[in-house]
Amino acid sequence: MTGINVAIPKSIDETLELLEKWGPDAAIIAGGTDLVVELKDKLKSWKALIDIGCVPEVRGIREADSNHVWIGAMSTHAEIASSTLVRDTAPVLANACAQVGSPQIRNRGTIGGNISTASPAGDTIPALFVLEASVEIIGPKGTRIVPIESFFQGPKKSVLAPCEMVLGVRIPKLDKEYISFFRKLGQRKSLAISIVSVAFVAKCQGPGLFTDVRVAFGAVAPTVIRARTVENAICGKQLDPKTAEYVSKLAFRDCVPITDVRGSKGYREQMACNLLYEGLLSLLSCSEAC
Ligand SMILES: Cc1cc2nc3c(=O)[nH]c(=O)nc-3n(C[C@H](O)[C@H](O)[C@H](O)COP(=O)(O)OP(=O)(O)OC[C@H]3O[C@@H](n4cnc5c(N)ncnc54)[C@H](O)[C@@H]3O)c2cc1C
Repeated sequence: MTGINVAIPKSIDETLELLEKWGPDAAIIAGGTDLVVELKDKLKSWKALIDIGCVPEVRGIREADSNHVWIGAMSTHAEIASSTLVRDTAPVLANACAQVGSPQIRNRGTIGGNISTASPAGDTIPALFVLEASVEIIGPKGTRIVPIESFFQGPKKSVLAPCEMVLGVRIPKLDKEYISFFRKLGQRKSLAISIVSVAFVAKCQGPGLFTDVRVAFGAVAPTVIRARTVENAICGKQLDPKTAEYVSKLAFRDCVPITDVRGSKGYREQMACNLLYEGLLSLLSCSEAC
């Protein structure tokens, strides 16, 4: 890693100037948990790294207004998982962040890095999909807000232009009638990238009865996907363990996985259905209290 310039800007304006100066020869470094692996394995090389750890504008977790929470790009998975505001208003995201990597990875890895890497296996992304979050992007032309579903263009590809960066994410708050879960399957319990993940949010109308159903799967398509066939099958229907098993099998229709080192196409399809079924069964018992 010798010969790389490292800049530590103190403001967003300084960061944008550096991005413009270096162009594609520079990369932003946040926690470094993805980027340093790429450098070490010589998958990519840059002339400069721009460390955004001292930029105040990308830090913090707060109420943006009475209906939204704002999470700065530099917020770590550990900070998000332990934030009372996130746990109360977007528990599915706190839950997903709590399942990333290991304590060390959660203490360094950031939500901005997880989104910008644009991996279909990024664990915060299915949670952000079901929360219908937006990504706040800043660049030379100012700020733009992109719905999370429109941010990704393929594996490791996003709408971020070379001189732009992620400032934060804006999340509509869920009220207390909403119920949610995030589940992932990895090769082991910790330090495992997801083979399949699923995030679920819905309004609980009574035992086994859900509306405003939102389901997203990770690692089963070139980007994270919303499973709209499954959502329509659950919305407004009375679920019991048998119908939950039936609707979970519909995940086959929404998922288009590939075979890779972590799992075959067929295994991923089956596991997507199983993860959803497990999650729905756990919700059925919680929804008794709705
Ligand atoms: C051992 C190990 C286990 C892991 N386990 C998991 C896991 O279980 N789940 C999971 O989802 N991920 C996992 N990861 C991947 C990684 O930890 C996460 O994706 C993490 O959130 C990346 O954040 P970071 O701050 O470290 O990003 P960095 O490595 O600093 O950056 C990643 C990429 O994003 C860009 N970037 C960073 N911040 C911004 C920004 N604000 N604006 C624009 N571009 C930006 C960088 O230029 C770089 O291209 C694991 C990684 C390792 C090494």
